[in-house]
Amino acid sequence: MKNVFNFSAGPAMLPAEVMAQAQSEFVNWQNSGTSVMEVSHRGSNFIEVAKQAETDLRELLAVPDDYHVLFMHGGGRGQFAAVPLNLSRADEKSLHIVSGSWSKGAVEEAHKYNNAQVIGDVAVKDGLTYIACPDASDIDQQAAYLHFCPNETVDGVAYDWLPESGRVPLVADLSSTILSQPLDVSRYGVIYAGAQKNIGPSGLSVAIVRKDLAGKARSVTPSIFDYGLLAESDSMYNTPPTFSWYLAGLVFKWLKEQGGVEAMAAKNAEKAALLYQAIDTSEFYRNTIHPDCRSKMNVPFQLADDNLDAVFLRESEAAGLMALKGHRSVGGMRASIYNAMPVEGVKTLVAFMSEFERKYG
Ligand SMILES: *Cc1c(COP(=O)(O)O)cnc(C)c1O
Repeated sequence: MKNVFNFSAGPAMLPAEVMAQAQSEFVNWQNSGTSVMEVSHRGSNFIEVAKQAETDLRELLAVPDDYHVLFMHGGGRGQFAAVPLNLSRADEKSLHIVSGSWSKGAVEEAHKYNNAQVIGDVAVKDGLTYIACPDASDIDQQAAYLHFCPNETVDGVAYDWLPESGRVPLVADLSSTILSQPLDVSRYGVIYAGAQKNIGPSGLSVAIVRKDLAGKARSVTPSIFDYGLLAESDSMYNTPPTFSWYLAGLVFKWLKEQGGVEAMAAKNAEKAALLYQAIDTSEFYRNTIHPDCRSKMNVPFQLADDNLDAVFLRESEAAGLMALKGHRSVGGMRASIYNAMPVEGVKTLVAFMSEFERKYG
């Protein structure tokens, strides 16, 4: 097999060890003569896998007991609808910080279901993209919730502050940053993540829901999106995405073996520092995000001459560096360096970039 480093933004690469294990038990899981994909979700073997995945995720993120951990269908965008349908009435306000294309998508979806309002937007500071923390006084205490996305996968924008929202529950889309660093779950009302960046295969989403916020869904809420119903049924109201759930479980186990989210945070910081340093010390590459708001997971960069984009992509791919094309709305390049990307992958990319600059810069 060709040895590559895959910088895809999502679905993204999964840990090599996890893929090898899944392959080894693909057709003969637990010596049963079947695949995990081919057994009932209500059988004791699968229930064991499902429970262990939840236990490991709870341990990794130190999820307090007053939170449900739900394994759901519908990916990240499914939650764009599930959140308003569970947490708000049609005449209530939801507040939104729009920091890039995913949080914009979330407010557009929320508009269908409640009185969604934008309280923070993308700004410019020193000529660079910047996201400011909203003032506590701008947060309407009557609002049903405040939604934000602290790592914008497309734009490569991130921030590490949490809004001071008073009694208004914080709802965070952590699709591209969950499990990449420690977080204090007790500060949030709902945390959700589509799985395909840092957890497992696409289609699955994980929602961590404070218990008092579940069980209040509107009567029209699709049952499969009803947090209360999902919690009551251990996320098995209908057939869950079993294979994805199993694979997520393998990823959680791998994360524990790696030393958990603290160890991941150190490794992720190292990778991001290597890449941003390479960009910042070059005359040829640039990143237009303010240093305080740079993502450690998704690193967009532009070439001095965009006529060279196609050459860069062709040559990087030939060198085994895959999926570096930036999102069509941003252009240029983007390297996504989630948990599964080894430091060696980033070092190889940096060496390639330097050589490319020498040749064409
Ligand atoms: C990928 C992504 C989504 C969308 O996930 P889907 O599973 O495609 O619906 C939402 N939010 C963020 C931050 C993402 O990175």
